[in-house]
Amino acid sequence: MIMSLKGKVALVTGAASGIGRECALNMAAKGAKLVIADLSLDNSNLVVDEIKKAGGEAIAVNMDVTNEAQVNEGIQKCVDTFGAIDVLVSNAGIQIVWPIEEFPFADWKKLLSIHLDGAFLTTQAAIKHMYAGGNGGRIIYMGSVHSHEASKLKAAYVTAKHGLLGLARVVAKEGGPKGVTANVVCPGFVRTPLVEKQIPQQAAELHITEQEVIKNVMLKDTVDGEFTTTEDIAETVAFLAGFDSTAINGQSIIVSHGWFMQ
Ligand code: NAD
Repeated sequence: MIMSLKGKVALVTGAASGIGRECALNMAAKGAKLVIADLSLDNSNLVVDEIKKAGGEAIAVNMDVTNEAQVNEGIQKCVDTFGAIDVLVSNAGIQIVWPIEEFPFADWKKLLSIHLDGAFLTTQAAIKHMYAGGNGGRIIYMGSVHSHEASKLKAAYVTAKHGLLGLARVVAKEGGPKGVTANVVCPGFVRTPLVEKQIPQQAAELHITEQEVIKNVMLKDTVDGEFTTTEDIAETVAFLAGFDSTAINGQSIIVSHGWFMQ
């Protein structure tokens, strides 16, 4: 049975742009109260305004997911404002591409920190409130096909996205008895600012044209040569966020036009 998201409280990190923004707008359209957590309050407030214009409820919080104090404050503000946190979408992420032999250690640490420290810190802060509220919760990590598959130049990203599967499985085991589920949504390539930036970078690194990056690298293994869309991912996240029972737990759902098949 699919539970309505109506009245549920959802916090999405990295919600000022791309996939996170679409997830927030979609859950708000389905009746959830939204907390837009991102680095820039100005950008987050644009999403809040969109939600309010459509008749929904939302606030913005200033949150660098690698900053423990900001994460705790943002999640506390969510609970103080809306009385609970029912859904956490840990989505904030970046991409940095280098061949392994040139990968700056500082870039490696920065990427792992945003994806993994961010997922850990937001989970830890949110799950305490989910346990205390006694109504369970839904934690959704934004993984990637790169949670299951590797690509050249993406040592840090592939490592981080694989790591999220491990975290989700532990949280599923710990949280399950208390009604908290943890799952990973794994998109293929989606044309967001994160991906637009990679096209010229990969063209330069691989000495091919931008069109060739799209056709021969990004979409090469899809069954139909199509990009996944932000709407595809937002619907998958809303499905997991609104799923009534705790039967789906510790799983990853790949949404990639058949690029990777489990
Ligand atoms: P995006 O660049 O459009 O949005 C990412 C958002 O995260 C931005 O608003 C940015 O400000 C925010 N962010 C970055 N660092 C942050 C930090 N330290 N604290 C808080 N917020 C921070 O990117 P996107 O494509 O929407 O990516 C969202 C997620 O989806 C990422 O985890 C990414 O790895 C994942 N993903 C994207 C694709 C794709 O093809 N676009 C595919 C698979 C997975």
